[in-house]
Amino acid sequence: MTDLPFLPFALPEIGEEEIAEVVDTLRSGWVTTGPKARRFEEAFVQFMGDASLQAVAVNSATAGLHLALEAVGVGSGDEVITTTHTFTATAEVARYLGADVKLVDIDPATLNIDVGQVEAAITPRTKAVLPVHYAGLAMDLPRLLALTRPRGIKVIEDAAHALPTTLGGRLVGTLDSDATVFSFYANKTITTGEGGMLVTRDAALAQRARVMRLHGINRDAFDRFTAKVPSWYYEIVAPGFKYNLTDIAAGLGLHQLGRAQAFQRKRERLAQLYDEAFADLPLLRPPRPADAADLHAWHLYVVRLTDEAPIARDALIEQLFAAGIGCSVHYIPLHLHPYWRERYGLSPAQFPHSQHVYERMVSLPLYTRMTDADAQRVIDAVRRALGR
Ligand SMILES: *Cc1c(COP(=O)(O)O)cnc(C)c1O
Repeated sequence: MTDLPFLPFALPEIGEEEIAEVVDTLRSGWVTTGPKARRFEEAFVQFMGDASLQAVAVNSATAGLHLALEAVGVGSGDEVITTTHTFTATAEVARYLGADVKLVDIDPATLNIDVGQVEAAITPRTKAVLPVHYAGLAMDLPRLLALTRPRGIKVIEDAAHALPTTLGGRLVGTLDSDATVFSFYANKTITTGEGGMLVTRDAALAQRARVMRLHGINRDAFDRFTAKVPSWYYEIVAPGFKYNLTDIAAGLGLHQLGRAQAFQRKRERLAQLYDEAFADLPLLRPPRPADAADLHAWHLYVVRLTDEAPIARDALIEQLFAAGIGCSVHYIPLHLHPYWRERYGLSPAQFPHSQHVYERMVSLPLYTRMTDADAQRVIDAVRRALGR
């Protein structure tokens, strides 16, 4: 059907600076966590523009979410509330700690967790809420905090899609939750291959995450009593994890972070092209920030077919693939996956908005290496598939 090469759903943008930095790391002899991981953490705090934050580099957002929940004391007997409309990583970390997951529906206007549903799901066992800034659009964190704060419930933001995203002019990461976790997985807005960053203003949380990130090793405890710690000495204070970020990855991250704002502008431009081209089609375009001055990270560009569309979602995806265009679905909601469905006896009727959206949604290619011509190819294929 097409002579053009396949247009993938996502591709990372790795430049010569990143490649040179990785080569430098390899030549340096320091390939695991070292000076570059430290520099990446410092650069991340600078990027956030808030010196009261601490950044803890980890080898995935999943690891960061696990560390954050561990650090706020989530454990067996506790409940953690999150959205059904997310990747399983958001929820699985609560299960690692023996806590139970309460999935709630989304607000169809934003595709973010419905804060009213969170309120309804709170019980005396609720220990934490894990909101997701879906697709890179900020969820209404102030409204959530108004609910959780008086009840002593912790809030850990899953910001895997949200670099950079703002809410009321403030970057996600600098808002008022207990911790925020970013992902640098291959298809995220910046990438280190695999990697993540936990940020928090809570010094005790950051300290616990640092210790648990690497086997529960603590040298600081020793520092307090001795002027000089012998280089070989350490103490194990807990059965920690192996979640440290390598300097190879951190070197990539330093350069990717430097390009994050430019990447966002490129994504914004592509989203704008799509928005304009799809205005007359039988589909819902992605929601935008309530305040037009706020940044959307545009990790995903998600359209939803309306009932007027001549074809169903699966057929649209097939036609796009036939036209040489990759696309995806974010997400198959957790309530449909066997593990979550069976463990908690879930059914689609409990999540009508997520279910409705899932059946009609497609994520189109949106990444910085796309040219305007690539975007036009996607536009033409979508218009053709919808009979225009
Ligand atoms: C990608 C993603 C994660 C996990 O990120 P990793 O860095 O791969 O662990 C978590 N939550 C959401 C919403 C994601 O999209």
